[in-house]
Amino acid sequence: MTSTATSFPLSFSLTPSTDARAEAEREAILADPGFGKHFTDHMVSVEWTLDGGWHDAQVLPYGPISLDPAASVLHYAQEIFEGLKAYRHADGSIHTFRPEANAARLQRSAQRLALPELSTEDFIESLRQLVAVDGSWVPDAPETSLYLRPFMFATESFLGVRSAQKVGYYLIASPAGAYFSNGVSPVNIWLSTDYNRAGRGGMGAAKTGGNYASSLLPQELAYEKGCAQVLFLDSQEGKYLEELGGMNLFLVYKDGTLVTPESDSILSGITRDSIMTLARDRGHNVEIRKVEIEEWKAGSASGDIVEVFACGTAAVITPVAQLLADDFALGSADAPAGELTMSLRQELTDIQYGRIPDTHNWLTRLDA
Ligand SMILES: *Cc1c(COP(=O)(O)O)cnc(C)c1O
Repeated sequence: MTSTATSFPLSFSLTPSTDARAEAEREAILADPGFGKHFTDHMVSVEWTLDGGWHDAQVLPYGPISLDPAASVLHYAQEIFEGLKAYRHADGSIHTFRPEANAARLQRSAQRLALPELSTEDFIESLRQLVAVDGSWVPDAPETSLYLRPFMFATESFLGVRSAQKVGYYLIASPAGAYFSNGVSPVNIWLSTDYNRAGRGGMGAAKTGGNYASSLLPQELAYEKGCAQVLFLDSQEGKYLEELGGMNLFLVYKDGTLVTPESDSILSGITRDSIMTLARDRGHNVEIRKVEIEEWKAGSASGDIVEVFACGTAAVITPVAQLLADDFALGSADAPAGELTMSLRQELTDIQYGRIPDTHNWLTRLDA
């Protein structure tokens, strides 16, 4: 949808919370935040209408959103989201990682879901605005962060099936503890052969709740098998690797080559893209191409595939120990994390936390 979005930047009003958590309570939460359990004192909301474009940009107290029961998102799932983090550096400053890439992806998701596009400038400004009031919610312990969750959905009350003429963009934030609190430990993953995540021409490349909804049942089956995540294959032939429910996948070959699946129906991760750049910088051969499950089987049997890892903003890089399927298993359940896996993880987090120079200009300071 081409929106009638205003071409000038939004200006945000601020309504401060009158029951913001006291410092002691906030510090208690930040000492053990977990993931996605606690939320900061404020949120952002911006409204869009077909006639008025984006308007009414607000920073307001965190709290329930009031929706008409006929709001079309509740019936037809016209919804998209993003996920990125704010990192506290040693000097106290607050930075985020490649926010313009998240903004561009939200725009691509918006196109696919027939939602209006929010400009990159307004997207990044919404992050700045929230951090300006809730910056004290960015924890400073190692590997902790403030997870930022922008999302957009159809708020129009109308049961006809067409794209909504009234939409809301919101931003909430949630302090996040170290993903692996006891050191990075490899996970086992379950190969889903009965269910696919997305099909040709579907929404697989958009970051939308619907893709997650379709992954929940296979994810439950993975848990039953003792696996942390589920791996999906392509829906057409059931033989090419796609991705996990919410993470992209890499295979590492003995000669140092990294291979990650190419597909129109997977989400193009910013973590994945950053890892490809870092690996190429180091002189590794990096291939983005179709990968058959048979290739993993053969490479595992021959010893040519030496490491496997998954990646995404929440966990950064998660080593994969074993792939379990109905009739085979690859790797071993107690395989240690791979050496390259761990060194790429270290380099990426060192950049995010400002411990090494940001030579790719990936960081955006949010608190200044
Ligand atoms: C968000 C997401 C990823 C990871 O993307 P990042 O930009 O690296 O966080 C991978 N797969 C799916 C399905 C996702 O929704």
